[in-house]
This record gives sequence, structure tokens and C-alpha cells, in this order.
Amino acid sequence: MDPGGQLKEGLISGKPSLNGLKGVRKLGQNHGEKRFIVVSNRLPVVLEEHNGALSVKSGSGGLISALSPALRDRGGSWIGWLGTSDTVSIKGIKSLLGPISSQSGYRLLPVFMTQQEVKLFYQGFCNEIIWPLFHDLQSRCRFEPSYWETYMQVNQKFAKVTIKHSDRWDLIWVNDYHLIPLGRMLKDKRPNCAFFLHIPFPPPDIFMKLPWRQQVMDQLLSYRLTAFQTERDADNFLRCFKELNPRSRVITPKGRDRGFKITHQWETVVGTFPISIDFLHFEGLAKFPKVRSKVAQIHKAHEGRKIMLGIDRLDYTKGILERFRAFELLLERNPELLGKVTMVQLLVPSREDVTSYRNLREEIEREAGRIIGRFATLDWIPITYMYQSIGQEDLAALYRAAHVGLVTSLKDGMNLVSKEYCACHPDNDGVLILSEFAGSAVELGAGAITVNPYDMEGMAAAIKTALFMPHEERRQRMSLMRRRIKAWDVFRWMDSFLSTAAGLTLSSLPKRELPPIIRRRS
Ligand code: UDP
Repeated sequence: MDPGGQLKEGLISGKPSLNGLKGVRKLGQNHGEKRFIVVSNRLPVVLEEHNGALSVKSGSGGLISALSPALRDRGGSWIGWLGTSDTVSIKGIKSLLGPISSQSGYRLLPVFMTQQEVKLFYQGFCNEIIWPLFHDLQSRCRFEPSYWETYMQVNQKFAKVTIKHSDRWDLIWVNDYHLIPLGRMLKDKRPNCAFFLHIPFPPPDIFMKLPWRQQVMDQLLSYRLTAFQTERDADNFLRCFKELNPRSRVITPKGRDRGFKITHQWETVVGTFPISIDFLHFEGLAKFPKVRSKVAQIHKAHEGRKIMLGIDRLDYTKGILERFRAFELLLERNPELLGKVTMVQLLVPSREDVTSYRNLREEIEREAGRIIGRFATLDWIPITYMYQSIGQEDLAALYRAAHVGLVTSLKDGMNLVSKEYCACHPDNDGVLILSEFAGSAVELGAGAITVNPYDMEGMAAAIKTALFMPHEERRQRMSLMRRRIKAWDVFRWMDSFLSTAAGLTLSSLPKRELPPIIRRRS
């Protein structure tokens, strides 16, 4: 089969003037206007309930702002789950989504799940198998056979909705680990499917523990394009593939560090596309007068003190307890810092229906309380802890006010917070401490202070270095990171993914000239 040929006919329509579609070629006349369809576990909307009445509002975030222009007014669709189970009336939801669809210029098509499916598919296979395994935390996995069955069953539901609302040559962009099997289910009827994995891909000694490893590998190779965040992930994938299929063919372009093509049942292009942020949006927010006055307020409340900021979704992969312990070690070993530095930790609620996440929250709060109890004085509290989601202006104000940004993920597909922190420092001030195991370390490692989040002493030393870093060094490092993020923002990310998915040639893979994943501190 010739994937290039097929996809040339299946190109999506694009107005070159629109942000995010510059690289996508026009459709072939023979097939009329072809559409672009995004499939992800969740729809880009938030469902709210007030006194028994349901309402839906549009979601926000980099992915939504990057994809919306590509979908808008082109007959595009976004297919996904609303985050609610069958207790909500299907008819009611459809009538709620109608107005939002006309507002956004593309159709929002819901997939419904029963409570049992939510339990076994979402909480089970997704959150108790793939999520921990792909983040190298296999001891947290529960390889329950019924999870796999429901995983396949729910993917069939997604396949049904996708087929119902698409044509043969539409370009279908499947997102993330919830939907790995979808490409295989669609393959015969919808051959133009591309897949992007937002989370890391593990090395063979971890992936091989998955009881369904061969099936998952075959499913990942049922797409025309299978894309990862970093070369580390793509290399891990290739190593796993070779271990499982020693006789299959892999074509790696000579002299280039771009991607490869795997021939296994059919041809799949494998590439890396590090996701990014809407840099100018965050930079603009940080300069906004209202945000600047919030920054001044925060500085006033912490007068004479350095502020270190952690912003994370509640998740054990974020290394929040490790960060607290490193901070404790820093205060214990450097009493001159008592009263001079405050850690602000914003924890964004997540997966509250999962017991292990509720337990983690309790543990984080216990640790914060213990450290506060140990060091606080009448006029200083070492940790300001918030468990909530905040608006974008407050977020930008926090980023800009923080002298040090702390990202200590044990493993992270990318980590957008690290990029947003830099975008919100237009004055080139601020120091980023960044885990070696965050995907963003590839792009930002040269400017950040990189740390091993399992090494408490190393992290305590890094915080001290950050607190005392001379102004010129701070400026140089921050300016380097900001330049890189600006040059590869979320629109470039989407452009290059779409042009590769539509053209599907190895040479259309973006050339990456970035430093290796782990950069040691000098
Ligand atoms: N974020 C948010 N509300 C908040 C705090 C943060 O929506 O109150 C956003 C933040 O701006 C960032 C995202 O959550 O875009 C977190 O993305 P990241 O890649 O860092 O981690 P993830 O949660 O995807 O694992």
C-alpha cells in the first residue's frame, strides 16, 4: 500500500492565511471538501451542574486554541466524552452541545459511557494501567483482564461515532493513550488516521510488562502517522517494536535525526512533535496592566522574600512530595534562608473519583502541614498551599511574580507549566528548575537548572543555586528558553503535525536541532 498516495488524495482543506494551517495543502478536487476530525477522550467543553440544571461552556488551553482555527468553519468535528456517565440524558446533552457547536464553528460530537465503562475503561485501563506504566511507575499498575475488554469496547463506541460522522478520506487525528486501538478499528473504512501520544512512551523493560503489549504495539502501527512528544519516546517505541518484531523493516533516513518508517502490516511514519503553548497569549497576559497589579500585590504580600512556584495537577507523576522534602532539606541545612523564601504550591484538582488520587492529596496536605508546623514563625509561613483551579490572569500573575519556577515531575510527556512560566517572564528574569524527566527538558534544558527529582539533596542544591543566581546569568538563561518556546509554539506544532499527517513523507518531519534529553549542570 502507498500511504503517501492515499493521503495525498485525502488532504484536508486549508486556508493558508489562517494560523495553524499554513503547512496543509489543498484538497484534491475528486473527493470534494475533506474534513478534519479530532478525536480525544474528552470533548473541549466543561459540563457544569447548578441546582440540578446542566450547562456546558467551552474549555480553554493551548490545544483548544491551536486546533480550533483548523476545525472552525470547515465542517470539522471534535469527537469525545463529556466526562459524565449515563445518568445524564443523552437528548439533553445533545441540545446543550448544539449552541456551543455553532459558536465554535465545528461540531462537538459526544460519545457516551455507562458508569461501568467509566470505571473499567477510564479509571481502570487508562488510569491504573497505561498512565502509571507509561510514566515508568509499574508498581502502581493493576493488570486486570476486564479492564482490557472494556478498553476495547469503549474504543468501539468511539469508532462507531467517528465512522458515522466522517467520510472515507477525511483526516482523523486521534489523541492520546485512551484511544490507541481506534486506528485499527477505523483502518479499513477511514484509512487516513494519525495518532499523537501526549504522554511518554516507556523503554522495553517497562513496556514488556504489559500483558497486551503485542496488541498495543500492533494498534499503534495501524496509523499512517504515529507521533510522540520527544525523540526519547520515539526511540523507546522503536526499541520495543524491534524486540517484539525482530524481522520487520524500519527505514531511518540517512544523516537525519527526524523520524523513521516502520513496515509492519502496512507503513507507518513515526515522528516527534513536541507540543507547545500559545506563547504570545501568555506573554501578553503577563504584560496586561491588571495582571501586573496582581503581581505587585503578590510581591507586597511576600515583601523581602523570594517566591518559588509549583503549579501541578494533582498527580503522583508530578513529584510534589519529593519537591516538599527537598525544600525541607534546604531549610534544615540553610537556616539563614528561614523567613527569606516561600514556596507557593498550587495543586489543581484532578481524578478526585480515584481513591489513590484522594490519598495522594491527603499525603501532600499532611506533608505541607508538617513542614509549615516545623518552620513557620509568627510572621512567615514557608509553604502557601492552594487546592483549586485558578483563572488565566491569576495564573499569569503567579508565574510572573515567582522568582523561581519548580517543575519536578518524576516523568512527564511534555509539561506545559514550564513553558508557560518562561512565556510569562518578558523581562527575562526568573529561574526555571526543571526535571530531567520532563519532555520539555529537551528544549529548555540548556536554560533551566535541570534536576533528578529522586535526588533530594541535588534538588535542595538546585533551589539554592536558583535563589542566588546572578542577574546576568538569569537573563541569559531565560532569554534562551523564551526564544526556543516562541520559535516552536503550539501553532508550529500543529502545522507540522498536520502537514506531516496530510503529506506523510519523512522529509516533511520537522527538523529538530535541540540538545539531548539530559543536560548536566555545569
Ligand atoms: N492550568 C489550569 N488551571 C490551573 C492551573 C493550571 O488550567 O488552575 C493549566 C496550565 O496552564 C497548563 C495545564 O494546566 O496548561 C497543565 O499542563 P501540564 O502539561 O503542565 O500538565 P498536565 O496537567 O497536562 O499533566
